[in-house]
Amino acid sequence: MSISLPDELPLAYQEQMKRLFEADGEPIDPFLDSYREPRAYGLRVQPWKWNGHETARRNAAALFGLEPVPWCPEGYYYEESSRPGKHPYHHAGLYYIQEPSAMSSAELLDPQPGELVLDLAAAPGGKATQIAGRMKGEGLLIANEIHPQRAKILAENMERMGVVNCIVTQADPHALAERFPYSFDRIMLDAPCSGEGMFRKDPEAVNEWSPEHVEACALRQRDIIRAAVRMLRPGGSLVYSTCTFNRRENEDIIAHWLETYPEFELVRMERLWPHRHRGEGHFVALLKKSSSAPDATDAADGSASAQSGRRGGSRKGKGASGVNAAAAAFRQYAEWAREHLPGLELPPGRPLLFGDELYYVPDTHPGARALLDDASVFSGLRLHRLGLHLAHLRKNRLEPAHALAMACTAADQAALRFDAAADDPRIAAYLRGEPIAPNPEQSGAKGWTLVAVDGLPIGWGKASDGLIKNHLPKGLRALG
Ligand code: SAM
Repeated sequence: MSISLPDELPLAYQEQMKRLFEADGEPIDPFLDSYREPRAYGLRVQPWKWNGHETARRNAAALFGLEPVPWCPEGYYYEESSRPGKHPYHHAGLYYIQEPSAMSSAELLDPQPGELVLDLAAAPGGKATQIAGRMKGEGLLIANEIHPQRAKILAENMERMGVVNCIVTQADPHALAERFPYSFDRIMLDAPCSGEGMFRKDPEAVNEWSPEHVEACALRQRDIIRAAVRMLRPGGSLVYSTCTFNRRENEDIIAHWLETYPEFELVRMERLWPHRHRGEGHFVALLKKSSSAPDATDAADGSASAQSGRRGGSRKGKGASGVNAAAAAFRQYAEWAREHLPGLELPPGRPLLFGDELYYVPDTHPGARALLDDASVFSGLRLHRLGLHLAHLRKNRLEPAHALAMACTAADQAALRFDAAADDPRIAAYLRGEPIAPNPEQSGAKGWTLVAVDGLPIGWGKASDGLIKNHLPKGLRALG
């Protein structure tokens, strides 16, 4: 099913939109006409992969017909038929396919390197990967998603895009607020909504729409906001966004917000309309919490006791090994990295060991350090990723994690590498999970090999006997 005529849109939706345009004294026809226009396709590049890779940049621009998105420096429109999501550069995390209007939310949030940032409803990761791009690996991002399957996809996307400073949690926003009251410098709340801006992109969204669904979404948004408000530190900023058009989930939510939480001021509120901007449409609002708002030390809502209770708790997160075991495992990794990955420099941080899996979490932000010092803060929370997954520890050896390959910004950070052009058949073979033949100058090489396309890492292989054995995780192999 594809929506080509406004007649196919629910009548109640059309009436709602008529009322909205009438109230604004604007004609509705240009908006309705936009449903007859082809939709806009966008991708957003990951700065640390895009910069410094001239060949990939040039190829991507030519292959996908890239044109800049005016409101996002990393955003580009692409031609639908060029299918960048199927290209090896997508596996390399060079870009994230993202609807162009949706790029406006993180732009407005304007996260900075070194901050402690929360993306409260983060899957599949469009805004979270954009926020991470702006943070440049410095500071800490907590990306949360309530639904297990979606949280898994979120974690995979953070990994593909080479993000090192992100913890992916799977929690109800209120459970998160219990653990992180008054903590974050910035919060992204890209709320679950009735998705009216998805109608052109996803006709299924039309079937789910009803006035009752809009009301249910508005109620849920108010509920999530209670948790978000609590987690923002005094003086912090928050972006609320939706991909829907009705007022109940947008302006009315903001009005309710300002009434209920007078410590907030509205800095900016904007709509991107599909008939005015080349995109599917978005609502974005930037709010700031007063710096004199209560914080954890003087809050009257019980959060302070929640914090002190937390401090009294165990210092170990569920399943985490002790500091010494983690330090020993990290020494083993460091030795391995000296030999195999001499060009990768990790930001200041700390190793964490969960069973045989070694992670590394950047901890330069004092808030991040406080969180990590008290790892009980994570106990009971489902964690899908804890910073950078460095390695799997096997009996007497170490296997580098796929995430480590993706965190490398260039093939030449590894001592041994296989680097080929995107159209080399061995790249497609590697992505299907097959072993590949090394380039002639490396035919005698032996050991862990960083496999790359036009200089951009896509995973690990292990060279021996004139062949590179495939170590791409099974779930990531391309079908067909
Ligand atoms: N920010 C994401 C991105 O840019 O890729 C899109 C987020 S989507 C608009 C909203 C998310 O909220 C969905 O992943 C949905 O599973 C999640 N969600 C649903 N109910 C929720 C709730 N009660 N609390 C928090 N998140 C919820």
